[in-house]
Amino acid sequence: MPQKIKMDDQVDILIVDDQPENLATLESMLEKEPLSIRKAGSGKEALELMREIDFAFVLLDVGMPDMDGYETAKRMRSNEKTGDVPIVFITAIGEEELDMSRDFSPGPVDYLFRPIEPAILKSKVRIFSDLHRQGKAIQDQLRLMEERNKELEQFAYVASHDLREPLRVVTLYLELLERHCHGRLDEKAGTFIHYAVDGAKRMDMLIKGLLQYSRVTTSDEPFTSVNMNEVFEEATSNLSGVIRESGAVFIKNNLPTLSGVHSLLVQLLQNLLSNAVKFGKPGAAPEVRIFAARRHGDGVFSVKDKGIGIEPKHFERIFVIFQRLHTMEQYPGIGLGLALSKRIVERHHGRIWLESALEEGSTFFFSLPAEADQGSGGRSVGSAKK
Ligand code: ADP
Repeated sequence: MPQKIKMDDQVDILIVDDQPENLATLESMLEKEPLSIRKAGSGKEALELMREIDFAFVLLDVGMPDMDGYETAKRMRSNEKTGDVPIVFITAIGEEELDMSRDFSPGPVDYLFRPIEPAILKSKVRIFSDLHRQGKAIQDQLRLMEERNKELEQFAYVASHDLREPLRVVTLYLELLERHCHGRLDEKAGTFIHYAVDGAKRMDMLIKGLLQYSRVTTSDEPFTSVNMNEVFEEATSNLSGVIRESGAVFIKNNLPTLSGVHSLLVQLLQNLLSNAVKFGKPGAAPEVRIFAARRHGDGVFSVKDKGIGIEPKHFERIFVIFQRLHTMEQYPGIGLGLALSKRIVERHHGRIWLESALEEGSTFFFSLPAEADQGSGGRSVGSAKK
């Protein structure tokens, strides 16, 4: 449930001025506001306080000796902790020191002119206080969502892990029963047991899939430099049986090296290649093209087949876990491959999508940020016939 922002929650603010009477005046003007006010008599003192306290904003006198307001602001901006704290400069119109063209990004700045009009001061203070409260509420909400997400992931993992054990017992005893009663039960009873064993096995496959799916985000395998050509070799080696049976041909260009989790990237490419082979046109040896190109610094990969194709209305659905467009009898599988692929790509901060037309084939694309890119390889097309 979204958190309600309490507009009268106290916020910490800092007033900086070398004149004690100015500090006292500002403080008295703001005494009725829900603020916790700290005061500093110099830029140096202000910077020290800001290192300790997260201020919502700072009211900063420009004309101070030693370190003036602009210099103090510059130093605030160069520090990670205080870099984007809003600053309201206090100065007098026409004073030499006024220079509104200075850039104090990334944090916002505003100006207040002496003599200070209490209503304007309060209005600015309320705006910056509200902005701070809203920002904090969004941060809290984000943190909460991240925690809940983690809990859910953990739950899916533990639940699927723990479900496998009792299921293993059910499957084992059903199989024993089937063997034990072989030839002694009538045909109907035999069929019932057979369906029960079959159902338990299918359930085990689904639970295993769920485990695999949640492991993509729960595992803390580190990112390393991954050569996608090696990933391709490993993926095709894992698929050597189906490749041999189908007579599939792979054509690929030189693939880049990127930063990622090696085992997950093998899984990703393996899923896409295996689908490209599995959903080939009946009676024809599948031909699959794997290319990589560079787009805005990211590596964009494509896996193109000449298979049965997919209708655009199913483009979103096929990435949902356990969603399939065919029965198990038509094509084996449980509808995990693309959901897993999407998760893997997202874990790498990339994107996955496709272009396809029924009967004409499909191209699956995925992008991966190429931090550790060591050359995306031109168009030197190598052919790997398996
Ligand atoms: P599975 O292969 O186990 O069915 P996936 O999640 O990998 O699970 O794919 C989901 C569905 O998307 C498949 O059942 C199939 O209908 C469709 N699909 C995936 N890849 C292709 C492809 N290359 N060509 C045609 N259809 C595909």
